[in-house]
Amino acid sequence: MGRWICLNLNIEISSSCNLNCLYCPRRNAFGLEQFMPLGVLERVVRAVEPERVVLIGLGEPTLHPRFREVLEVLRDSQVVLQTNGTFPERVRMAVEVHPDLEVALSLDLPPSVAGRFRIGLEPGRIEETMRIMSRRRSSISALMMRSSMEALPELLSLAASYDIESLDLSGMVPITEELDEERVFTFLSRRLFEYLEGRSELVEIAYRAARIVLDSWGPVDSNELRVYEAGVREMEAQGLTPNFALYEMEAHRAREALRREKYLRILEEEASSLGIRLKRTSLFAQEARRCPYAETETGAVSATGELSPCYDLLHDHTYYLFGHEKRIKAVRFGPAWERASMESYQAYREKLLEFDRNFAPCHTCPFAARGACFFVPDNGVDCEGASPTCSECPFALDLVSCSL
Ligand code: SF4
Ligand code: SF4
Repeated sequence: MGRWICLNLNIEISSSCNLNCLYCPRRNAFGLEQFMPLGVLERVVRAVEPERVVLIGLGEPTLHPRFREVLEVLRDSQVVLQTNGTFPERVRMAVEVHPDLEVALSLDLPPSVAGRFRIGLEPGRIEETMRIMSRRRSSISALMMRSSMEALPELLSLAASYDIESLDLSGMVPITEELDEERVFTFLSRRLFEYLEGRSELVEIAYRAARIVLDSWGPVDSNELRVYEAGVREMEAQGLTPNFALYEMEAHRAREALRREKYLRILEEEASSLGIRLKRTSLFAQEARRCPYAETETGAVSATGELSPCYDLLHDHTYYLFGHEKRIKAVRFGPAWERASMESYQAYREKLLEFDRNFAPCHTCPFAARGACFFVPDNGVDCEGASPTCSECPFALDLVSCSL
């Protein structure tokens, strides 16, 4: 077919994992033994000629039974190996075999917390992996969770003692309502939160006004309605959607986020004094959504060779977003080496590049909060007809990140 597109790729060479992490979207697929056949990898690489490949997956890439050959097939690409670090001997082999390989260790949680959430960890083996990473191009990625925030300085000390270049912190996307308690980011934008935080009278009236609409009763008099309408007009003039439902659900979380931002600033200063690059996602939702995959021209390929817009859409799974359960259905365009798949990918990417024009504004819509809208329980379609839809994607709100 020849080279007619150059994509960066997240390639899932293994769907299998040796750990069982409580927050993993593929927990129910734990133990699944699926590996990308070498012939499939070769076809993908021949067709796409990727400049950069992230070996990722909701699985551990080093478990691939022909891992050395995988690396040989990828010799002309820059490779980022994302690993849970429990197979140091395979990581050592990888850095020896591939001339341009970066190791990204998914440590996820500081050692003092990890045992509560990651089943099957062997800390000694991870330390061995960090020794191999020392003084190479390397990073540690970790999650910001309520249980882990106070212990984040442990990660900085580890990164410093093993000479690791970068620490990447991401919010954790909850997969259940129970895990939503661990969420440290808020779905509110900072501007909406700050606007409503100083206007308790307006918020109080708005809650009662909403009850009038829903139940046809409520003690809102004409003077209060005037206050309400003036408030809504002012918000709209400032480009804010008057989403009182989201504020009611999230204000406590946003207050915590403000406190945590101060704490993270101190951590950032500490990282900088140690010579470690600290990258992190936001604790407040961005107002304009941007897909990190589309922006970097990155696609994802499943262990069977199928092309998806991102690694989150490689598989069916469930999240708990905006106070409701969200079933994410996989989006696959077909084999990555087929022209029709690439065309579908490009068409979807074009939509993602004009995000707010092409997907319904669920991130600011009052009906998304607590799942009041008929459309939000899954990503099948939104009220503007986008199908599938990325309308509530936490990656696009910069609340969580992925290896790109
Ligand atoms: S917006 Fe989110 S779900 Fe959609 S392609 Fe981008 S990362 Fe994936
Ligand atoms: S799909 Fe539902 S929640 Fe999203 S913008 Fe439309 S009405 Fe609002």
